[in-house]
Amino acid sequence: MSRIDLHLHTTHSDGSLPPADVVRLAHEAHVTALAITDHDITTGIPEAIAAGQALGIEIIPGIEISSRYGESELHVLGYFLDWQDPELSARLATLRESRHRRNPQIIERLQSLGIDITYDEVRAVAGSDSVGRPHIARVLMNKKVVTSAKEAFDRFLANGRPAYVPRDLPEPADAIQWIKAAHGLAVLAHPTWVKAPEGTLTNLVRQLKAAGLDGVEVHYSTHTPRQTREYLSLAKQIDLLVTGGSDFHGVTKPDIEVGIGKGGLHVPDHLLAKLKDAASRLQ
Ligand SMILES: [Zn+2]
Ligand SMILES: [Zn+2]
Repeated sequence: MSRIDLHLHTTHSDGSLPPADVVRLAHEAHVTALAITDHDITTGIPEAIAAGQALGIEIIPGIEISSRYGESELHVLGYFLDWQDPELSARLATLRESRHRRNPQIIERLQSLGIDITYDEVRAVAGSDSVGRPHIARVLMNKKVVTSAKEAFDRFLANGRPAYVPRDLPEPADAIQWIKAAHGLAVLAHPTWVKAPEGTLTNLVRQLKAAGLDGVEVHYSTHTPRQTREYLSLAKQIDLLVTGGSDFHGVTKPDIEVGIGKGGLHVPDHLLAKLKDAASRLQ
């Protein structure tokens, strides 16, 4: 049975490989269709489409938008969207600006705590990756301020700690609406990461469906067989589409491979027909 992979990151967000390399890996893994879903950006899509044409792999334009859910984040995937839509592009640009503003603010807070650290040092550690808190943690480790990334987060960087700076994130319903406005399908990413209080996930997903949600990412690298069954029955119960993907990032998540995740992932290609059918009704 053929497999697909509808959740892949590239160097256009926090992945370590350019789109063409991700498409090549997918080809080697016998993936017949894939979606590039970079965080808050769609600029990797044209390179993926060109590589897909050369290798005979179908490329579905995608996105992953971070939204705020209580003290944590909830990610919404978008598929088949008009990725060049000017309104969507403007909204994504605003999101990215808020992330870029945040890093120097974190550095300033660390400096005010008497820690010798500069933004240039963090950028040097990040290299070509988009700068984030893991890079700040690595500089703190290199300078022996902390002995682990966990300590960096626990003492300084996590929510509620002295160098924490909140990000401006949209509400989940807004992220869904942005995708819908660009004629895309909106899908709840990796429900296992959603920090819904025990027993309330079904209600949350119902609310998201009322806001326009089309599907749930049932198949995912770190979902256990039991979770996969649970999310599948949730999708059926609420009448939502089923999707799946690896969340491949390259060296950033070294144990996750394109197409097969940690080895046990299999997203069946028959899911694609239903997604296309639903997407065609949105146009
Ligand atoms: Zn995510
Ligand atoms: Zn992702």
